[in-house]
Amino acid sequence: MQQAVTSRPPAASGAAPRRAARMLLRAGRLRCPNCGRGQIFITWLKLRYRCPACDLLLERGESDYFIGAYLLNLIIAELIVVALMVVLVLATWPAVPWTAVTWGIALLTIPAATLTYPYSRSLWLAIDLIFRPPEESDFSPGADVIEFPRGPRTERPPTRRPQ
Ligand SMILES: [Zn+2]
Repeated sequence: MQQAVTSRPPAASGAAPRRAARMLLRAGRLRCPNCGRGQIFITWLKLRYRCPACDLLLERGESDYFIGAYLLNLIIAELIVVALMVVLVLATWPAVPWTAVTWGIALLTIPAATLTYPYSRSLWLAIDLIFRPPEESDFSPGADVIEFPRGPRTERPPTRRPQ
């Protein structure tokens, strides 16, 4: 069932920061930033096509939508790894095991990027929704037939049972 857009331009001046904070908190819980109810991931690495609660198109109808999310993922993951390495260096100063630090940075990069991946995607969606509130086209049932260049998507929108 398609619902009304819940993110409208704020009427009061204090509403925009509260709305933005609410969307970011929802994204941090891996929920739909728009409604806060739908779980937007099927698995840790696989994003749903639509929010199961409000029908928001999670890639907003754009095939290259999450390039920004990948950049955000890289930045967050690298900051975590660097912070861990700084702690290690400070904890072992002055006898820093530089070989372990060097290999630790290299070996922690991939798991850190994997751990932060869904948060990066949900935060990117929240940031985009803050600056570009959802419109009717973001809930459009006709958008289901869009074929992206990378191939057909594997998840189909939920079928509706007759009442
Ligand atoms: Zn939603």
